[in-house]
Amino acid sequence: MQKVLVIEDEGRIVRLIRDYLEKEGYIVVDARDGEEGLAAFQRQDPELIILDLMLPRLDGFEVAREIRKDSEVPIIMLTAKTEEIDRVTGLEIGADDYVTKPFSLRELAARIKAVLRRTKGDVSKPEVITQGDLTVSTSSHQVKLSGEEVDLTPTEFDLLAVMAANPGRAFTRRNLLEEIGHFPGERVERIIDTHVKNLRKKLSKSEEPEEYIETVHGVGYRFREEL
Ligand code: CA
Repeated sequence: MQKVLVIEDEGRIVRLIRDYLEKEGYIVVDARDGEEGLAAFQRQDPELIILDLMLPRLDGFEVAREIRKDSEVPIIMLTAKTEEIDRVTGLEIGADDYVTKPFSLRELAARIKAVLRRTKGDVSKPEVITQGDLTVSTSSHQVKLSGEEVDLTPTEFDLLAVMAANPGRAFTRRNLLEEIGHFPGERVERIIDTHVKNLRKKLSKSEEPEEYIETVHGVGYRFREEL
């Protein structure tokens, strides 16, 4: 059974999450503030962490930074609906995904499954990724749409490959720049928008520009999980 650590100070939310995840077959442990959360992380060695941002003593950002100093354990943040900046910051510190409060437990469970699937698969990244009519082959550097080769620039290819290898994961512009080996900066982050726009144009046969690459409002982009 996989162990999930919930770091959240609101007892009601902890109970809801615990009841639901235990029924789904997880072991759930919890901590009610940031310091306790770090201690529980060391002691319990969980497979995944659900981390609220607004916590007493150490806030969620500080907890995530500490954890990321020596661990790649998957982290899903709980964020307030209005705080888009928090989502961006969290993803840039190294959280794997976020769920916005108020959230449905089904959605949270789906995110947990997706994050565990992605992070477990890290060792052997797929060489060929297929989604709908689109095929991305990272070994041959080829992209095909309905069997026909699509001509992409190296940057467009790298961006697509990074996102397609992690369907459903939201990337900030800075995340994407780092992934493709560029040094992020305020001004260049907007370059990502231009590349994505061009990518979408090349990947759309229909009038649906977001068919494969979705905009995550206030955050960035993600490769669509299912079509
Ligand atoms: Ca809280």
